[in-house]
Amino acid sequence: MRLDPELKLQILEKIGIYSSRFSISEPQILLSTKEVLEIPKEMTEGRRTSAYKYYGVSYLQHNLVFINVRKIPDEKILENTIVHELIHMRFPYLAHGKRFNKLVRQGLKGKTFSPYRKRNKTT
Ligand SMILES: [Zn+2]
Repeated sequence: MRLDPELKLQILEKIGIYSSRFSISEPQILLSTKEVLEIPKEMTEGRRTSAYKYYGVSYLQHNLVFINVRKIPDEKILENTIVHELIHMRFPYLAHGKRFNKLVRQGLKGKTFSPYRKRNKTT
């Protein structure tokens, strides 16, 4: 998709809406590979020069999300990518798989999630 100011605003709006539904703090958003390369290396370690390959990347340690707008073909995949990345933020322990995909589907349908709390290992 073409990243113009209108689309950028739309994306940031969606991020705001889903972040509050998922009870997460709004991540910093990067919308082009150029922006990924502009921020400090240690923040994007491991997924820096390879970021262009993906629709989206979450940098969980730094509360940072890259949405690869130029690679994304349409609005449906855009919405899906936003929710996918924010589900990573809300469920940082969860790997890709059936449970993850279910949460993405629920998120897309408007489900809200209570805040993430780290569990005590002994309980
Ligand atoms: Zn993912």
